[in-house]
Amino acid sequence: MPQKIAAGNWKMNAPDPAEADTLARQHPDPGVTVLLCPPATLLASLSERLSQTKIQTGGQDCHTAASGAHTGDVSAAMLAAAGAGHVILGHSERRADHGESDGLVREKAEAALEAGLTPIICVGETLEERDAERTLEVIEGQLSGSLPRTDAPLIVAYEPVWAIGTGRTPTPDQIEKVHALLRAQAPSDTPLLYGGSVKGSNAAEIFAIANVDGALVGGASLTAEAFSPIVSALE
Ligand code: PGA
Repeated sequence: MPQKIAAGNWKMNAPDPAEADTLARQHPDPGVTVLLCPPATLLASLSERLSQTKIQTGGQDCHTAASGAHTGDVSAAMLAAAGAGHVILGHSERRADHGESDGLVREKAEAALEAGLTPIICVGETLEERDAERTLEVIEGQLSGSLPRTDAPLIVAYEPVWAIGTGRTPTPDQIEKVHALLRAQAPSDTPLLYGGSVKGSNAAEIFAIANVDGALVGGASLTAEAFSPIVSALE
C-alpha cells in the first residue's frame, strides 16, 4: 500500500509560523504523512519548531550539485541539513518561471535521492494540451523524462496547470485516468498525489478516486483552518 501524504506547498509565502503549531496540535498523531514545504529561508526554523511533532518539512526545489559556484541556489544536502525530508521538484511554476526541462528535473531528483531526500516530482498538462486531447501523452512524456533512473522511493504529484490556484478541478474521471497512467509508469507503491485547488470541501471526493494517495496543496496549506480538514479527510 502506498503511503498516504498531505503535503503543503507554501510557495513564496510566509504565513504566521504559529499556523504550523496549530496544525500540529490538531493532528498530534496523524497516521498519514503530513508535510509542510516552506520557502528555503524558513525551512530551518520551521523544522526546528516542528521537531517535537509528527509534522515533517520539505523544500520546494534544489540544485543538481551538492555545493559550489551556483549563486542563489540551494543544494539538496542543504535542505536536508535544514531538516527537510522531502523536496518538491519540477513544479509547473518552476517549469514555467525557470524553464526547467524534464531532464533537469530528473537530475535534481537524482541529487535529492543522493542527499537522502524523497523527491516529489510534479507533472501536469496545460489547458491547451488538455483541450487538444494530449493529456496522457504529455504526462507520459514528463514521467519518462523526469523520473530518476533508479527504483529509489519517490512521490509523484499530478498537478494540471490549469487547476493550480484557479479554483477549478478536473472531474474525478479525468483524475482517475491520469492516476492510472502514473500507477502503471511509476515504481510500485509510489505515493501518487493530486494537486490543484484542493480544499476541505473537495478533499474527500478526490481521495476516494482510485490511485490517489494524497494531495499537494498550495493556497489551502497556508492556514491550519484550511489545511486541517484536508489532513482529516485523508486520515
Ligand atoms: P493550489 O496549488 O492548491 O493553490 O491550487 C497547488 C500547487 O501548486 O501545488
